[in-house]
Amino acid sequence: MHQILIVEDEIKIAHSLQQVLEGEGYVVRIAMTGEEGFFLINTEIFDIVILDIMLPGRSGLEILEALRSHDNQTLVLILTARDALEDRISGLDSGADDYMVKPFAASELLARIRVLLRRGRSEPVFQLQFADLSLDLVVREAQRGGQPLDLTAKEFDLLAYLLRHQGRFITRSMIARDLWQETTRATPMDNVIDVHMARLRRKVDKDFPEKLIHTIRGIGFIMKREES
Ligand code: CA
Repeated sequence: MHQILIVEDEIKIAHSLQQVLEGEGYVVRIAMTGEEGFFLINTEIFDIVILDIMLPGRSGLEILEALRSHDNQTLVLILTARDALEDRISGLDSGADDYMVKPFAASELLARIRVLLRRGRSEPVFQLQFADLSLDLVVREAQRGGQPLDLTAKEFDLLAYLLRHQGRFITRSMIARDLWQETTRATPMDNVIDVHMARLRRKVDKDFPEKLIHTIRGIGFIMKREES
């Protein structure tokens, strides 16, 4: 039985989410404030926390940052307002596993939760696959269309990171934090990342008609298939 915590101050939204989730057999708790949510996450075990960003007092982002800085690896899905793209980016930077934009369909939320529960945070994976790309994480070899790609260690790590986050936005600060263990948002780091990314894209995409690595202006990168 999966345990889900909803941290949301709007009682109507919290209760309707609870109903939907309980209807699917999840065990649901509600915290109405950031403080209460933070306390529960630190004293009980949840499979997923649905965390609203806009909370009175301690915001969802502050809670998320505090959790991750204490190495709490609970799966977190954040809820953001429609036009708050910044919140989504900072949420992912702070270690959110996914986000939903309000208002959303219950079916979409349930689908995301199923994916998160299946994927987990730190499930050991030995092989990554996307389109005609495949990475063997044990021997650290990458292939596209059956042809080996000649990657440096860093390029391999970067490509693996893109594959792990396929279909989702990746910001430069996520890459800096997760691949360079660099937490400050210094401009020189962005340049280093861009140089590595440019080299990687040449090796992965140059000889193939379909490009898989895309730049998203003002955000970062995404690994996705080209829409035909
Ligand atoms: Ca709220």
